[in-house]
Amino acid sequence: MTPPSLPRPLPAVVGNDQTGELRRRVRAFLDEERAEGRFEPRVNSWMDGWDPPFSRRLAARGFAGMTVPTRYGGAGRTFLERFVITEELLAAGAPVAAHWFADRQVAPALLASGTEEQRAELLPGIAAGELSFAIGMSEPDSGSDLASVRTRAVRRDDGNWVITGTKVWTSGAHRADRLLLLARTAPGDPAARHAGLSQFVIDLATPGVHVRPVLSMDGEHHFNEVVLDQAVVPSTSLLGVEGEGWRQVTAELGFERSGPERFMSAHQLLEEAARDARGHDRARRGSVPADLGRSLARTAALRALSMSVAAAITAGEDPRVHASYVKLLGTQHEQQLVENASLEGPALDADGLRPHVVAGLLSRPTYTLRGGSNEVLRGIIAREIGAR
Ligand SMILES: Cc1cc2nc3c(=O)[nH]c(=O)nc-3n(C[C@H](O)[C@H](O)[C@H](O)COP(=O)(O)OP(=O)(O)OC[C@H]3O[C@@H](n4cnc5c(N)ncnc54)[C@H](O)[C@@H]3O)c2cc1C
Repeated sequence: MTPPSLPRPLPAVVGNDQTGELRRRVRAFLDEERAEGRFEPRVNSWMDGWDPPFSRRLAARGFAGMTVPTRYGGAGRTFLERFVITEELLAAGAPVAAHWFADRQVAPALLASGTEEQRAELLPGIAAGELSFAIGMSEPDSGSDLASVRTRAVRRDDGNWVITGTKVWTSGAHRADRLLLLARTAPGDPAARHAGLSQFVIDLATPGVHVRPVLSMDGEHHFNEVVLDQAVVPSTSLLGVEGEGWRQVTAELGFERSGPERFMSAHQLLEEAARDARGHDRARRGSVPADLGRSLARTAALRALSMSVAAAITAGEDPRVHASYVKLLGTQHEQQLVENASLEGPALDADGLRPHVVAGLLSRPTYTLRGGSNEVLRGIIAREIGAR
């Protein structure tokens, strides 16, 4: 029997003059914002930092809609260039949630599967940081097993769709303009579980769409339950090909799982620990941050992997399996960063870090769940290895 081979390694990537210039520009923008007191750095800022004016200012500088072609109002840059911007925003703990989901996965989905009308209607707003999206995949009985979604979309004689079902854990749906929804458009077939699913772009203000809060354990309103009660949406809401929703969604997950937010949610804590160690403050107090060298090395390795995925997407390759590596290894790393920081004890008060660590401890359990749990990602990787 031939032993299974590991997936092909991605090429190593280094920055170039263009990415260096971009990095300088976005850092200057962030310095300005901080100097004006326009944002407070925070952990988990891509999920919890919803700040539409910030997103609009960022977009006005050309740092949102990075990979959207210029004819749709975007910056027309590569995924690698987008990577530089996103990692700087995360390192700064900037409040990027309002445009994050649209920018990260809705824009690529529209470019891959949308009609010209859909692109022309939606992409300029996304690139301007003005049109926000929530993602409607999970349901009360369908999380990891997404193929089992039960939300039904039925086409009426007039071409419009009637949608009925319940979505859950829908981040930001109470603030977003639109929902990218996965629904069943043909009855489930046990022999072909992934068939009969379709994607829709839905206006969250549509009659029959009810958004209800689900509070997190920190008391924050971040999640929602979205109930669609015979909501009627136009024929033009269908994204891509009817029945091809599974293929479209899994392609989207490649974008969702591979970015620097999968290992930088708690980066603030690492930055602070490194800054302190450089300034010898803690060394003087006799407290060296736990595991600092190893954490920095892991961050560097994850960054190389994540950047390689961005380069592969730029080259038109399919990032799905390598994206799973980033998500699996990266989210365990960011959980470990929070744990390491929480061991610092009294030094946290001296450094003003306690609120960040508390926020990290409260959001930490979600890192390895959102976007696909560890077990599911291990399954994807194992299947890929076994198939070779
Ligand atoms: C912060 C956060 C934000 C989120 N935002 C969104 C959003 O905006 N939109 C959206 O649609 N969803 C969102 N989700 C939902 C998320 O995608 C799901 O929580 C995730 O896919 C897991 O699904 P589940 O919670 O139903 O757990 P389940 O699928 O019920 O899994 C429960 C446990 O069983 C394990 N398990 C399941 N299947 C297998 C298997 N085949 N083999 C081994 N173990 C298995 C899982 O690993 C997990 O530990 C969000 C979740 C979080 C935590």
